[in-house]
Amino acid sequence: MGKVLIAGAGPAGLAAAIWAARVGLEPWLLERSHGLGGQLSSYTLPIVDLPGFGPAPALELAQKLQLDLERLHIPIQYGAEAVSWNGGRLGLTDGSTLDGETFFYAPGLQPRNLGIPGEDLASPASMSELATLPPRRVLVVGGGDRALEGAIRLAETGHQVTVALRSEHMRARREYRERLETTQAVVLTRAVPRELDRRRDHVIMFWEQGTAWEGDQVLVRIGMEPAVHPNLAHVHQDRAFPKALNMAVIGDAALAAWERSLVTSFASAMRAVKSYVQRREA
Ligand SMILES: Cc1cc2nc3c(=O)[nH]c(=O)nc-3n(C[C@H](O)[C@H](O)[C@H](O)COP(=O)(O)OP(=O)(O)OC[C@H]3O[C@@H](n4cnc5c(N)ncnc54)[C@H](O)[C@@H]3O)c2cc1C
Repeated sequence: MGKVLIAGAGPAGLAAAIWAARVGLEPWLLERSHGLGGQLSSYTLPIVDLPGFGPAPALELAQKLQLDLERLHIPIQYGAEAVSWNGGRLGLTDGSTLDGETFFYAPGLQPRNLGIPGEDLASPASMSELATLPPRRVLVVGGGDRALEGAIRLAETGHQVTVALRSEHMRARREYRERLETTQAVVLTRAVPRELDRRRDHVIMFWEQGTAWEGDQVLVRIGMEPAVHPNLAHVHQDRAFPKALNMAVIGDAALAAWERSLVTSFASAMRAVKSYVQRREA
């Protein structure tokens, strides 16, 4: 029996590997970074919406998934990025190849950009890094879960936080919206970024409306988009689709923005593996 190749060791790729092993296939996991868990490694708040689990830290889920891999003897190759697939052979960035009977692609997401001049002045630091710094004036652009999760963390660790929304409303879950209200964070609505600039030791965000915000750090958290390699998948209406035969895109990359979650990543992996088994046995 050939290997079932899986690229991406986030929740979807891990679930696909576990399902593949359970149905008697031979999974082989590839992860381009040097740790498993994907987005789980950037959570700053506990997981509350995975039925039967938690509230508990995301790290605990990543550890449990790692134990599952070990229990099922599933190999995982780190520092291995998939860049091509021809229906039976996977190419990696280092030029090596792996043969497989099918390929599950679980690349997850990457941050979306504002696309404004000076955007590279926005802070590349993670929320966790910023939270440890002395109090600063921080602008968080975005009103989704990631933006608010970070804004809450920074406001609760003593930073002077401003949250900028394009519209009147935040998309983030109610729990985050309510918790933000208990902090000193200021919320700007209908604030459309035009340009980011630096003045000596601080940064200035200019809005379309003509006013500006001045402070120390700008964090852009305006959502995510599929992190696909152009050889492997194409993106249409924010969802990724396979570019070759005999492969499936799974997890957040394959799902509409409103569907993306741990539960749906696990489910999309299960569906892809079971549907492959059905076709294989037909
Ligand atoms: C801060 C934060 C908080 C969240 N909180 C919750 C929550 O409370 N509840 C919830 O349900 N969801 C939450 N989510 C969303 C949830 O984590 C995602 O839905 C889930 O991680 C998606 O899993 P995935 O495997 O599709 O992608 P990811 O987790 O993004 O994993 C993708 C993996 O693929 C690897 N990769 C990419 N391309 C390649 C390649 N070509 N070759 C090899 N490896 C590759 C990446 O390095 C990464 O490890 C949160 C997300 C964030 C960022």
